[in-house]
Amino acid sequence: MNETRLLYDISQKLNSDLDLDRILSDILSLTVPSVDARDGSIMIFDDSGQVVHQIMIRKGLSPQQAKEEVGRMLDGGLAGWVVTHRQGTIVSDTRRDDRWLPFPNGGPQAGSAIAVPLMRRNKVVGVLTLIHPEPDHFAADQLALLSSIANQAAVAVENARLFRAVQEEQAKLQAILNEAADAILVTDDEARVLLINPAARLAFGVRTSMLAGMRLQDAVDNEALLALFRKAMEKKAPQEKEIPLSDGRTLFATLTPVRGVGWVAVMQDITYLKKLDEMKSDFIATVSHDLRSPLQMIYTYAGLLPEIGPMNEVQKEFVEGINQSVEKMSALISDLLDLAKIEAGMDMNIRVCRMDSLIRASLTSFLKPADLKGITIKTDIDEPLPLVAGDPTRLEQVMSNLLDNALKYTPAGGEVTVAAWAEEGEVIVEVRDTGIGIAPEDQVHLFEKFFRVKNEQTQDIGGTGLGLAIVRSIIERHGGRVWVRSQPGKGSTFGFALSVTSVF
Ligand code: ADP
Repeated sequence: MNETRLLYDISQKLNSDLDLDRILSDILSLTVPSVDARDGSIMIFDDSGQVVHQIMIRKGLSPQQAKEEVGRMLDGGLAGWVVTHRQGTIVSDTRRDDRWLPFPNGGPQAGSAIAVPLMRRNKVVGVLTLIHPEPDHFAADQLALLSSIANQAAVAVENARLFRAVQEEQAKLQAILNEAADAILVTDDEARVLLINPAARLAFGVRTSMLAGMRLQDAVDNEALLALFRKAMEKKAPQEKEIPLSDGRTLFATLTPVRGVGWVAVMQDITYLKKLDEMKSDFIATVSHDLRSPLQMIYTYAGLLPEIGPMNEVQKEFVEGINQSVEKMSALISDLLDLAKIEAGMDMNIRVCRMDSLIRASLTSFLKPADLKGITIKTDIDEPLPLVAGDPTRLEQVMSNLLDNALKYTPAGGEVTVAAWAEEGEVIVEVRDTGIGIAPEDQVHLFEKFFRVKNEQTQDIGGTGLGLAIVRSIIERHGGRVWVRSQPGKGSTFGFALSVTSVF
């Protein structure tokens, strides 16, 4: 009964603590009297067998001395024997048992010793050694008792170690969050703040320290960010968005659902990219404007040349060459100017648009060219489509750029289909062709300015490389998205989606 009570007391005491150093001294202070020993030592190993904690019999050792002492005990001493044999043992007379290594330079007198392993999941996680000044002090039944205690102790040690590991991980995570240049904000499923790092505090001017559990809209005063959360939670899907800050900076936020946590927003400062983009747009606008007038002059003078006097064939050919180049340059300049205007949000006349009639209107001017090239144009439009808010001229420009490409990059005998339908609050339009298609590595660059696929099939087809960049700019200005699916040799599908408008 005494033993049972002792075991119970020990497990109570050990399991109510998570501090490893305290647990180790508790183990010693509880076991020493339980077998009427005089003193004891304990050491704990990590997964690789290294000693991570120890309390020695010989007190006052420097860390280096303690390390050497432990090494000695594990190499040829009693502790080593216990680890190798994975069982407890008694040294009845230390003078007659070579597993006992006398303490160098003094230390307490040991006549007999008892040592047991701390076992956890079949692994030795530590060794407990107790000593008594007299020989023949320990008996076999004490070995059994001590082994039971050691197993209780092993559980407590493991708990403490797990706890410490969790704490260390948490500290690491905290350090990463604190030091991260990106703003990071974590909320639960109901958009209550769980965590906000210093970069995010700075970005959104958050001063309160008691944020945990606060509703996001009470903690952060930024409509763009709140809208992003609302949209993500409504759609239950990741979202991305540019977030303008009150200090003039712009963050690019990615909001992702994390199971068991809620939502994690990671926001990168893209102010310099925005500035660069603005500078590029300004530059393009100025340059293309300044290029227009001299070009107009070249065109006019080239047109006047035949009026001055008769020209021979070569001269006529040269003039034709000049005219063609001027036309190409005008097309490029007008695309550039267009793009600059769209990006700057200039000349946008938003009204309620009927996409079905808009698509049909854009198609009319392509019927003849398609016929001439031997390409069939088909439509698959769910009429009437819900209304969208947009600039009809710009949306027609989108359609004509896509149709123009479809005809340009589809050989004779091919087919171009325009499909449109409504889906989940959006109007979707797709232009599909049976043309040359686009390789996957080129697809990612298609909507970039000046990107043109360069291969044998495209080398004789003219273009500025701005058509799709214009398409993307216009659609994004309308709050929509664009995409491409394509298989080389089979054909391409270019599509865009616009939100259905609720304004009638
Ligand atoms: P471009 O003036 O060169 O046509 P775009 O921006 O309209 O410029 O298109 C960029 C590139 O994408 C084109 O050069 C072409 O290689 C490719 N492309 C666009 N549309 C298609 C299509 N329907 N089929 C195959 N390739 C296409």
